[in-house]
Amino acid sequence: MSEQICGVVRDLLPLYADGAASAESAALVEAHLEGCPACRAELEKLRASLPLPAETDAEPLRGLKKSLRRRRRRAVILTAAVTALALLALFAAAYAPAIFQRGNPLPYLAAAARLSAPNSFVLVEQNEREAVYISRFGADPVYLTVAYEGDLRGMQFREQMGAAYLFSDGERTVAVESEIYWGRWMVWEVPRQ
Ligand SMILES: [Zn+2]
Repeated sequence: MSEQICGVVRDLLPLYADGAASAESAALVEAHLEGCPACRAELEKLRASLPLPAETDAEPLRGLKKSLRRRRRRAVILTAAVTALALLALFAAAYAPAIFQRGNPLPYLAAAARLSAPNSFVLVEQNEREAVYISRFGADPVYLTVAYEGDLRGMQFREQMGAAYLFSDGERTVAVESEIYWGRWMVWEVPRQ
């Protein structure tokens, strides 16, 4: 008889452990369990093999979600950073030829900043070989003879040959080389005698 009850109780145990047994069945199981160590042990085994209840499970799951979100955010930031770098590289590649057209751009930019109505030409640098001037793009090259009163004094503008402007005093001819700088200025290389 007792063994038959054990059989019935064990059939009920999974439902009971899940809390899905009816009140009558649960009462029957509990009454039996009090006097039957074997069925109690069976219940323990059953509970041990059941998946963890939802509450104990939630914390790690929430942590996982948070770490996933963090990882996704990091991926978005990384993508943005890589995109910005790629754009910067493209920009640098596109403009580097202009920026470093004549090496260090700083003396040119400093000279260009001093350009004004009375100063249509500004000396950028000077060495034994040549003097380098900057002017606004489109300025009349003939004014160069006025601006440069040193070595071109007494010389007349004769003709333009490509980017070179030829000045002459009847005996010797000097070629002033011009170059469009950054698309908005002209750079003039005036040879020195
Ligand atoms: Zn039993």
